Amino acid sequence: MTAPLWLRPRGPLQPSCPRCHVKIGHVHHEWCSVARCLATGGQRTGHDEACPCTEDIWSGRWPGAAECFEFGWTYGDDGLPDLNRLMATATWDPVAHRWIQPLHQNTTVEEESR
Ligand SMILES: [Zn+2]
Ligand SMILES: [Zn+2]
Repeated sequence: MTAPLWLRPRGPLQPSCPRCHVKIGHVHHEWCSVARCLATGGQRTGHDEACPCTEDIWSGRWPGAAECFEFGWTYGDDGLPDLNRLMATATWDPVAHRWIQPLHQNTTVEEESR
């Protein structure tokens, strides 16, 4: 399986959203599963109706991919962004609209608390 160009660290930008096809700089359609809730970083389609977040725009890259490359969280020969790790361990900054790296990456901490 070949990774889409917009998942690569230095590939060209994807001119339109792969799901709802809006152009770069435009707001995703309401049903688009690529759009992020800018209050939580989760999928916009799953956020509460009363959520006060502003609308998400398509940037030309998959949401969170840039942070994965910045943190060095990639997998496979292609160096694809490890978005699952990002969702699981990074913290969403609702002001900066980006993921921030956890202060300590000791993954054994959670197991010790059991
Ligand atoms: Zn979209
Ligand atoms: Zn929201």
